[in-house]
Amino acid sequence: MQAINSIVNILLLDNNQADSTQIGCLLSKVKSLTFQLTTFQDFTNISSFLQRQHPDLILFIFNQDQSSNLSTLLKVKEIDTQDIPLVLISTQGNFDLKPLPVGVVACLTWSEMSIAVLEKTILFALKQHQYIKEVKRLRQDNLALSSQLSTTKDLFQTIVDSTSTLVWMIDAQGNFTFLNQAWLSFTGQTLATGLKENWQDRIHPEDLEKCNKIYQSALSKCQGFQIEYRLKRFDHKYRTILNTAVYRNNSQGEFAGLLCSCLDITQRKKAEGKIIQQVQTERILSKITQDIHSSLELDIILQTAAEQVHQFLLANKTFITKVINDDQLLLLFESSSINALSCEARRSKELPIKELRASFEQLSQGAIVAWNDPDKYVVIHNSCADFINISFPVLLIPIISDLKLWGLLCIEQYPAKFWQLNEIELLQRVVIQLGIAIKQAQLYKKLEEANQELEKLSVVDGLTKIANRRKFDQYIATEWTRLAREQNPLSLILSDIDHFKLYNDTYGHQAGDRCLYKVAQAISQVIKRPADLVARYGGEEFVLVLPNTDLKGAKHVAQQVRLQIEALKIPHLNSPIDLCVTLSLGVSCCIPNSNLSFDVLVAAADRGLYQSKEMGRNRVVEYEIKPE
Ligand code: GH3
Ligand code: MG
Ligand code: MG
Repeated sequence: MQAINSIVNILLLDNNQADSTQIGCLLSKVKSLTFQLTTFQDFTNISSFLQRQHPDLILFIFNQDQSSNLSTLLKVKEIDTQDIPLVLISTQGNFDLKPLPVGVVACLTWSEMSIAVLEKTILFALKQHQYIKEVKRLRQDNLALSSQLSTTKDLFQTIVDSTSTLVWMIDAQGNFTFLNQAWLSFTGQTLATGLKENWQDRIHPEDLEKCNKIYQSALSKCQGFQIEYRLKRFDHKYRTILNTAVYRNNSQGEFAGLLCSCLDITQRKKAEGKIIQQVQTERILSKITQDIHSSLELDIILQTAAEQVHQFLLANKTFITKVINDDQLLLLFESSSINALSCEARRSKELPIKELRASFEQLSQGAIVAWNDPDKYVVIHNSCADFINISFPVLLIPIISDLKLWGLLCIEQYPAKFWQLNEIELLQRVVIQLGIAIKQAQLYKKLEEANQELEKLSVVDGLTKIANRRKFDQYIATEWTRLAREQNPLSLILSDIDHFKLYNDTYGHQAGDRCLYKVAQAISQVIKRPADLVARYGGEEFVLVLPNTDLKGAKHVAQQVRLQIEALKIPHLNSPIDLCVTLSLGVSCCIPNSNLSFDVLVAAADRGLYQSKEMGRNRVVEYEIKPE
């Protein structure tokens, strides 16, 4: 409250000069305050005066018997509106004016008048007036605040009711204290019934524990929280909600409840779920594809595919069958879970071949067969959409390779399951990859066979059908190195048909070729060890590589070869040395040395051969390798 001014402007209303003088005299003796007194005896212009001047207080010397005074008093009632405290001084002995006109804050009788009483009364009146003013101001403030509050409340209500977000508040005991229109529409409740509900009753039972945990933890930490859970809608369907809760305190700083806003994120979750599922499917497919294509071996491809699909679907059994003889199915690979054993008894082991056969044409065009085991019937599905809301224990997906039904990818799941679209799609994409991989594997196999044939041809001499010079060069190099490491002997026999030019001249070149073939085959029959090699060294020369064979052994083999050719008795009537085709042979042997080339061995055998020719042909001559 304001302090009272040290100089107090007083308006004295009186029609009696003597009374006014006396009051003025009393006021001048008051010590605590200084007064500036204006006396008014003609009351007619009082209102206009009051509007011009604004005294702090009006003292009204009042004669209750004089009606003029009373009417003045009534006029003076307007003082109240002008906000000036009014003190009545009655000149009568007693004071009887009830009720007191508005604005009158104190009354005095002339008889009790003294300096002290006057001082006290004036001070009281001024203070009382200030107090009334303060109360009035507070009341006005209060009114303004109430109006502001009501506006804010209306605004808040309008905002929260116009949003699609579910907004609700609970108190510290968990009781609803506020529900917006969106909440009421979602729950299908009226405000009255809604407020009686418990928010937890609408939460999906599986999410309740999680919600309670977060709720309790938020309470203990005095924090808000954000949580996703499923909330039951008016139609008893659960929707996924993202609930943001703000912690509210009362003015004493105690927990007063939560303000929650919930967004229905069901669609978003579904879309997210679909994307996650797609990403997972893509990842699995890419892994399966990679694994399938990492091998060109058909067995490995099929086994990998069966295992990968099995792992992805967590099915009881996954197997791959191949169509053979156009209408039979051969089981190739099977991947089963341990717990599938218990299902075994329920499973009919045989696929319904008869029914399937009838469906081969549709299967060839990519249709999926769902086999309902207990009733033994097959259903053909041409699109994934056919699988919605139907459960089947067995799915058979056609593997098409080279535009033909190659086989079936079969999945078993007991009890019958509802197949997800993404699972069907994945299986369809896996069989496409399988079809490609099968085709590739088949091509690879053919290529490999062709390569093997080519490889064989590249080391075989076309005329004699024994190893050629190329093979000899590779082989002797390998054996030289190996035996150098092992320090074991390596023998070499070089042989040459005697007077072969003459043979050609006598019997013709074609006969010469046939002779070469016979000689080569005959030599081949002599050698017994797998490591021994007979090759055509050139023209009418043949070479024998005999690993782990000493000179003695080599000479023995050479002799056998010579005798074998003699035994062939191929006529060579113009030969100067015999009537049949004969062979001269040179033999060499050594323990290979990695610092030397096998050429030394060949050169030595060549020397032996040369000497054999020199010595009259049709014989075996050894040539010793001299250490350097
Ligand atoms: P020698 O006893 O001294 O070895 O006398 P030769 O006549 O066998 O030796 P020469 O080197 O003079 O002749 C080898 C002949 O072998 C010449 C060639 O016509 C014949 N010849 C080489 N390769 C083939 C072939 O593939 N087919 C046929 N028919 N003859 C061949
Ligand atoms: Mg020769
Ligand atoms: Mg010859």
